[in-house]
Amino acid sequence: MNRTATDILIVGAGPAGLAAATELAPHFRVLVLERERHPGGIPRHCGHYPFGIREFHRLMKGPDYARALVERALKAGVEIRTGIDVIALHPGPEISATSDEGVVRITAKRVLLATGVRESSRAQRLLGGTKPGGVLPTGALQGMVYIEGRRPFHRPVILGTELVSLSAIMTCASAGIRPLAMIEPGDQPTARWPTSLYPRLKGVDLRLSTRLVAIEGREQVEAVIIDGPKGRERIETDGVIISGKFRPEATLLANSHLIRDPGTKGPRIDNLGRCSDPAFYAAGNMLRPVETSGWCWSEGRTIGRAILADLQGEQRGPAQPVSIEGEALSWVMPQMIGGKGALDRLQLRVNRPVRGRLVLRIGDKEVVSRRIDSRPERRILLPMPALPHGPAKVVLEEK
Ligand SMILES: Cc1cc2nc3c(=O)[nH]c(=O)nc-3n(C[C@H](O)[C@H](O)[C@H](O)COP(=O)(O)OP(=O)(O)OC[C@H]3O[C@@H](n4cnc5c(N)ncnc54)[C@H](O)[C@@H]3O)c2cc1C
Repeated sequence: MNRTATDILIVGAGPAGLAAATELAPHFRVLVLERERHPGGIPRHCGHYPFGIREFHRLMKGPDYARALVERALKAGVEIRTGIDVIALHPGPEISATSDEGVVRITAKRVLLATGVRESSRAQRLLGGTKPGGVLPTGALQGMVYIEGRRPFHRPVILGTELVSLSAIMTCASAGIRPLAMIEPGDQPTARWPTSLYPRLKGVDLRLSTRLVAIEGREQVEAVIIDGPKGRERIETDGVIISGKFRPEATLLANSHLIRDPGTKGPRIDNLGRCSDPAFYAAGNMLRPVETSGWCWSEGRTIGRAILADLQGEQRGPAQPVSIEGEALSWVMPQMIGGKGALDRLQLRVNRPVRGRLVLRIGDKEVVSRRIDSRPERRILLPMPALPHGPAKVVLEEK
């Protein structure tokens, strides 16, 4: 087995990993490992706008944006190796990876995990009916349309109304596919206004308070059965795009020594982005499902700067856990806070539509609060001022 060493090792060449790498490269040797043949992460497969406003101050399509991130990283001195799959994490920090050349072990001063998200499969979504072709998650659809130039169906229905389902509509538009309907179990779209207007602008029938009961078809999808305000209906269609219900790509955590958060399913981190072993950091969508590329890029850059401060000897106080109270709260991230951190806001999600007040308490003291009117899969932020020491808890007081 080959052994090698670097200063900073980054797993995943998406917006988060590349942003962190670019921050660190002027100061340290930075090696980014990417399992795909090309770096750039998910934006490489999104041949539509809008990417790049925050990072390059202009509107770009996903592949151009991915290329620009890679060029910026290379210019800063980052080494990117593709076609190499990280398969295990070890204390040290050290990682094992495989490629066509075999297995390699790499040691580093710090490791940053930036492996993104994965989509839930049809089985994980418990969708009933037969199992014909033409049922695709958005990522697979994007691969077929943008990379292979294929059109898997003509008039599909889309399941879900969050951010990535809008990406599915854009993908369809670029291939001349005209979705018939979007199906949403809630009584409002998940994406916030004004992005939630996008389906109707594109002529897609938005079916709220509606459930997908079954998918019918033998070789290819022929129809879906839905249940909504008008009762049960059969819609003839030739495809189903499944969106939403993402989970961090955290396979690497499963057999590692790092603590995994049961809520986000990503690593447990503190407000510097440090994992339970402080030689490991994490950034981007592997921390929680699912944010935009601009958000992940910014998070990668922030955590890159925290790694820099750490290696330059900045002293950090101990972190304390943050718990959540309220059955509608799914998770909080970061899960540990202490002193002034790189991440200055707590991120949260709810598991059903909720109205009320979120309160951050340290012991009995209310430190900060805000009103919320939110839905599952929507971003919720709570400012995190410099906190006194003591048990921290976010409480949801529903109306
Ligand atoms: C289908 C889909 C469509 C989306 N469309 C949009 C959109 O239109 N606009 C938008 O803003 N956001 C979109 N998003 C959100 C998207 O996740 C973010 O835009 C952004 O890509 C997140 O950046 P990241 O660096 O955290 O992860 P990613 O971009 O996912 O990059 C992670 C990288 O890590 C690599 N990797 C994973 N595991 C390993 C391993 N073990 N070893 C080596 N490499 C590994 C992956 O191959 C990948 O390249 C979409 C998400 C999905 C799932």
